[in-house]
Amino acid sequence: MAVVDDNRNIELIAGHIEEIIKLLGEDCTREGLLKTPIRSAKALYYLTSGYRANIDAVVHQALFEHEGSQIVMVKNIEFYSMCEHHILPFFGNISIGYIPDGKIIGLSKVARLVNVFARRLQVQERLTAQVCREVERIVGAKGVMVVCDAHHLCMKMRGVEKQDSTTSTMDYVGAFAEDPALREEFMRLLGV
Ligand SMILES: [Zn+2]
Repeated sequence: MAVVDDNRNIELIAGHIEEIIKLLGEDCTREGLLKTPIRSAKALYYLTSGYRANIDAVVHQALFEHEGSQIVMVKNIEFYSMCEHHILPFFGNISIGYIPDGKIIGLSKVARLVNVFARRLQVQERLTAQVCREVERIVGAKGVMVVCDAHHLCMKMRGVEKQDSTTSTMDYVGAFAEDPALREEFMRLLGV
């Protein structure tokens, strides 16, 4: 999306945030809040920038030839996302294992790929599945397995769940779906 559209969208969002702040009972003319609508709009736009990212451009030229056929692990990629039910943060880490089929992907690109899906309104289950299928598609892997652990502020801040709990999700495709021994190998490499 063009920069001019982005700026226009951010301005429109800021107008709505100003209304929300008023409805919450605050005074938008108070000095500390004067620039809050535009700052908040910019932050929200950034935190949802995954909608406007081009994945193929993000991972462009980051594939390398690789002879091996054993699991490649990328562990504990930190991510920050927003739950689609409350628009509150959830965050944690994602670990990805894949069986290459002649190609591997640069490590920093894997983290950027995670961000493309994390920076949206999400549910953890879908984030996990999307990362799994996108690594399969881009790397052309024989199999992919993804485990995600996260803290959800919509649960913690609203006191619905015990403060120290985390939510775990998992997905796998290809060789990992066919062979339980591979899933066990993944979990062993993950150290759980
Ligand atoms: Zn939520």
